[in-house]
Amino acid sequence: MGFDEMVESLKEILDSRYLCNRCTGRLFAQLLTSTSNKERGIAIKTFLAMEIDAKELKIKGCSYKNINFRYAKISCKDKEKCDICNNIFDKINEYALRISKILESYEFKTFLIGVIPSNEMIKKEEELWENIGVEYAEPIKEELSREIGKELLKIMPDKEVDFSKPDITIVIDFQKNRITKKVRSLYIYGKYNKYKEMPQTTWLCSYCHGTGCEKCNFTGRKYEESVQDLIEEIILNQTKGVTTKFHGAGREDIDALCHGWREFVIEVEEPKIRTIDVKALENEINKKNKGKIEVKDLTLVSKEKVKEVKNKRQNKIYEAEIECEKDIKKDDAKRVEELLNNKIIAQQTPSRVQHRRADLVRERKVFYVRFLKIEGKKAKIEVKTEAGTYIKELVSGDEGRTRPSLSSILQNKCKVNKLIVKGFEDEENS
Ligand SMILES: [Zn+2]
Ligand SMILES: [Zn+2]
Repeated sequence: MGFDEMVESLKEILDSRYLCNRCTGRLFAQLLTSTSNKERGIAIKTFLAMEIDAKELKIKGCSYKNINFRYAKISCKDKEKCDICNNIFDKINEYALRISKILESYEFKTFLIGVIPSNEMIKKEEELWENIGVEYAEPIKEELSREIGKELLKIMPDKEVDFSKPDITIVIDFQKNRITKKVRSLYIYGKYNKYKEMPQTTWLCSYCHGTGCEKCNFTGRKYEESVQDLIEEIILNQTKGVTTKFHGAGREDIDALCHGWREFVIEVEEPKIRTIDVKALENEINKKNKGKIEVKDLTLVSKEKVKEVKNKRQNKIYEAEIECEKDIKKDDAKRVEELLNNKIIAQQTPSRVQHRRADLVRERKVFYVRFLKIEGKKAKIEVKTEAGTYIKELVSGDEGRTRPSLSSILQNKCKVNKLIVKGFEDEENS
């Protein structure tokens, strides 16, 4: 449809209903891009008003006396409502004020406004486009979000609009008459050590799922402490966030310790404070949790770091205290070291994790096993293996599910009493 035809269609439309200046101008939004929809609307209406005055155009309800009002800034009847927007643009300031109240308690630099128009608005706008064409049109949701955003900037001049990664996104739903906000999470990277037996992440009580009951002594947790719980407590206190998600580069068993600095990213959801002193945070966590956990290298990172940390495949170095049924002979220990040096072992999913992992036989590389100390039935060993190797089973053999194992080579039934992760090594460097 050409421009002239569009204007002809507009005349017909205006004969039966009222459109405000913005809704009129928005039909031509792609033309004269440096003007606003309001200016476009006024321009077209003024032009039509001249046609009416020249008696070349008749529009119902518009006599020569009131046309200026009808077509320029105001409608001829004071209370006339725009057929598309129901004069919602008159309330932009009201919406901006409501939003600024919601955002009052949040620290942020950038924001983005999103709008969900009412079904009525969408239906009417689509009807209009069917008659007049969409060549130059702009959807109402775009103008609404832009104008409310501009208004908000007048109230909060130190903020900025960010289309890709805003600190806060505000969605105004005109259908449900509801304003919601989404606060971008904060991501803090770091490394932790674990000196006490505990799970890595929050482990909720299986009876009450976190609300607290007699079974869990009203803690809501199966294990009272976890690495996440201890770090989270202090981080939430500083950021005034709601909750956290813990993303570790793998995890050790509850009863295993970590002295090798495992990487993690903790995600703080809905933080009210975004400027944080990570060094002070680190000190506070370490001071409060002496003997339990320790963190280092805390840094604010972007969301992408989560994937990077979670997808890490690292070779690991462990120290294990083992105990066997019979005394361990020095020669047998030597044989273990020789036979497992740079050896691929077959490891079927351990019986203890079978309920949550597919039952498969996986091949894993053992780089070395070294006996550091042998004392009768007990020994201390150091093991370096590929990511995903189960160390307890490498020692016990898991009823023949891990082959070979220390138990099978020693011909002695052995188990791990204590396991410590001593180091991590990124796979590509090995
Ligand atoms: Zn309107
Ligand atoms: Zn409980």
